[in-house]
Amino acid sequence: GAQITASNIDNLSQHFPACMSHLHRSLRRDAHLKHFGRLQYTLFLKGIGLNLEECLMFWRSSFHKITDDQFNKDYRYNVRHAYGDVGGDSNRRGGGYSPFSCQKILTEHPPGPGEAHGCPYRHFDLENLTALVQAMGVSDRSVLQGVKEDKDTQKYHMACNRVFEHLHKAEIKKAKDEGVMTSNQLETIVHPNEYFKRSYLLKN
Ligand code: SF4
Repeated sequence: GAQITASNIDNLSQHFPACMSHLHRSLRRDAHLKHFGRLQYTLFLKGIGLNLEECLMFWRSSFHKITDDQFNKDYRYNVRHAYGDVGGDSNRRGGGYSPFSCQKILTEHPPGPGEAHGCPYRHFDLENLTALVQAMGVSDRSVLQGVKEDKDTQKYHMACNRVFEHLHKAEIKKAKDEGVMTSNQLETIVHPNEYFKRSYLLKN
């Protein structure tokens, strides 16, 4: 499989859940993300195995409209802090912050105008959510209808797992047929990093 490096994030983003896919698309479109988007995305990237050096390289090259000085002054510290490379003793001992769970993303700091963090299944309107899910490769009308119903009934995890199952249908069937699905892999995904890990393992 592909290595977890700054230059591979575009390729690896095919394995991202909707929340991180949207952050990545927004970053590529704007060459910028606001604070909570950077935090949510940085911790996810750390969780998939991107090391601090590569993560700094990723952000530096993604924010291509600004100078090195501006990057170093305004953005470098927060990335290092998220990794526990700077900050108080307890932050450093603990290796920085943990990647956010769906629960946290769904319930804390809802995104305001111009912000790209949060959970699209909850925080997008149906039109934007449908466009994002389609861009992720879902065109099946019954899946899109299921996502709408999950959203209407506030079962955001269900929508996310529905999309995962659809996008990995062939691989899941193969793994089941071969008897290599673990019981853990059959449980509902409740963490963006688990979504990535399962997708990556199924497709590599
Ligand atoms: Fe991300 Fe979780 Fe929402 Fe899926 S349910 S898009 S993994 S926050």
